Amino acid sequence: MIPTAFGYTKAGSVEEAVAALREHGDEAKVIAGGQSLLTLLRLRFVSPTALVDLGGVAALRGVRDAGDALVIGAMTTHDALVNDPLIREHAALMAAAAATVGDPAVRHLGTLGGSLAHADPAGDLLAVVVALDAQLTVVGPGRTRTIPASEFFVDYLQTALAPDEVLTEIRVPKLTGWGVHYEKFQRAAQAWAVVGVAAAVRSSNGSIAEARIGLANMAPTPVRASAVEQALTGGERTKEAIVAAAAAATEGTAPSSDLSAQADYREHLARVLTGRTVTTAAGL
Ligand SMILES: Cc1cc2nc3c(=O)[nH]c(=O)nc-3n(C[C@H](O)[C@H](O)[C@H](O)COP(=O)(O)OP(=O)(O)OC[C@H]3O[C@@H](n4cnc5c(N)ncnc54)[C@H](O)[C@@H]3O)c2cc1C
Repeated sequence: MIPTAFGYTKAGSVEEAVAALREHGDEAKVIAGGQSLLTLLRLRFVSPTALVDLGGVAALRGVRDAGDALVIGAMTTHDALVNDPLIREHAALMAAAAATVGDPAVRHLGTLGGSLAHADPAGDLLAVVVALDAQLTVVGPGRTRTIPASEFFVDYLQTALAPDEVLTEIRVPKLTGWGVHYEKFQRAAQAWAVVGVAAAVRSSNGSIAEARIGLANMAPTPVRASAVEQALTGGERTKEAIVAAAAAATEGTAPSSDLSAQADYREHLARVLTGRTVTTAAGL
């Protein structure tokens, strides 16, 4: 289908983008890589009055070292996340998950900020930012605020962003030296997760000192597997102990039934994949 007519502004800065969003009112939309938005436009699921293009805002691309954290520009592509040396060293879980997003074309165009703002709970990077306790910076007219990832996703395809706000940066704490793994169950190669699990594990003297686990597509928003994290913390670093802890992976989840899977099958996948993902992250 052909989208309805819309205006177009190519922003040169975040301020220009915010001003354009304000000018066009609630029905304007930001466009980043267009990998999700173009489909919605063509299907006429959304009919914005105007698109505000962030493609020319160079300041929103790239990764910088901020001491105990990395700060990632919202327009950083999935491919850049996979290959960035800082990400690979200090936030390897993000690189691992980004490597599974779609196909090479999608990874070269799609952005971290676009994935998060689109807020599809099957998105691979949503589970990662929730697991890593990322902080998201958003800029609106005359204001900047920071939103914890745990509060950014409010419902299916809905975030805490106001219509005149732009997501600019994602700050993730460095987990240097942690074991990490991302695994998803897909119906076909290069597809969205039926269920995905992101895990980061810090081991010490044969035990698991800390674990962070995020689940994709187990609720209308990404979910933290807190019960599993608690069961693992301070426990033995063995496959048996991890599989036992993973039995709690469905606590706090609300999976849907759809064409890809029934809810109870998703629960089964969450338990199995959590066991498998944490075992690999723990180096076993
Ligand atoms: C064939 C295909 C396969 C895919 N497979 C996967 C997959 O396996 N896993 C996965 O996670 N994703 C997958 N995707 C989606 C991909 O990750 C997209 O890149 C992502 O969902 C959106 O990023 P984008 O930069 O293209 O955003 P866009 O499509 O441009 O925008 C998406 C939404 O976010 C808003 N937005 C974008 N940037 C900002 C910002 N900085 N501030 C405020 N709002 C903003 C837009 O207004 C829009 O509502 C796939 C997409 C395709 C086409």
